[in-house]
Amino acid sequence: MSLFAIGVDLGGTNLRIAAVDSNGRVLDKISADAEVARGRDYVLDEMCKNVRTLAAKFGGAGRMAGIGIGVPGIIDRQTGMVHESPNLPGWRDYPARDEIERRLRTKVILENDANAAALGEKWLGVASQVDDVCMVTLGTGVGGGLVLQGKIWHGMTGMAGELGHITVDPEGVMCGCGNQGCLEQYASATAVKRMAAEAVARGQAPELARAMNRDPELSPKAIYQMAVQSDEAALQIFRNVGQALGIALANMINVFNLPMYVIGGGMADAWDAFAPAMLDQVQRRSFVYKATAPPDGVRIERTSSSNAQPRQSTIVARASLGSDAGLLGAARLPMIADAADLSKPRSNRASTGVKSAH
Ligand SMILES: [Zn+2]
Repeated sequence: MSLFAIGVDLGGTNLRIAAVDSNGRVLDKISADAEVARGRDYVLDEMCKNVRTLAAKFGGAGRMAGIGIGVPGIIDRQTGMVHESPNLPGWRDYPARDEIERRLRTKVILENDANAAALGEKWLGVASQVDDVCMVTLGTGVGGGLVLQGKIWHGMTGMAGELGHITVDPEGVMCGCGNQGCLEQYASATAVKRMAAEAVARGQAPELARAMNRDPELSPKAIYQMAVQSDEAALQIFRNVGQALGIALANMINVFNLPMYVIGGGMADAWDAFAPAMLDQVQRRSFVYKATAPPDGVRIERTSSSNAQPRQSTIVARASLGSDAGLLGAARLPMIADAADLSKPRSNRASTGVKSAH
């Protein structure tokens, strides 16, 4: 039996845990009670209890590479603490990694959930054929992750990839981060609900107004269904989503020139409604995207099975692992941790040396 790892997806509402083998096969999956409102210790107890159950089932800690945990927040990788997480009350500046390691006696790696999702899509999803990928996760907020040469790019302090806070409108809506006009204010589920309420308030959305009368908490999914049925106000909301995403993507494509950009998260289910406006903006604003266009205009994913070397084009693709991306990416973390840990201090030292030489 091959080695396995445990992945944990610690969300604001769900706690999902999976045992995954080194080929990416999910051996077993548990959806546990995550009620984060019941407190940090309750969630830790639930998590550790379920991890122990899975570990015992597949050969015990001796066969386990470790535990990777995707957390919705900013992680301090040196201390293993959650630095900032609005959805996890009581976790801030708590030594979560060390406490879980102490309880389970195995290696634990905390990672931002959007980074974990990007790693999951790189490992087993739509980006498995490329070395470098940028993923935007559209959920309650907008997260982002960069995987370069197969590894998560953390930046100096672990905060790299905050794609949700790219400015897409200098005069736009205020964001919780202190900026205004962030991508998150136009492309998240929260933003879709807000834009629907605004359209109703302007008196420009009779069908949306009727639907909201029936259900004041009208979901982005319901608004998407109205767009599918050609309701103009609902269509316009998803055009706004696509436009904001397209502006952000165009900038990233120009900066990074990566082979692939992936859109995931729950809101990606509305791909049909926002993708045309998104790709239109990318086409208009990114000369790197245009310069990497295939001659026939059809962008197809490169396949490893093909011997012919097609012209390398920039792909913007929908994620393929759905809500499992973060869980699988989290399980991948302990499997590849040694290489990542070795490379980090070395590259830090190199850059410090360059700076002091000036
Ligand atoms: Zn922001």
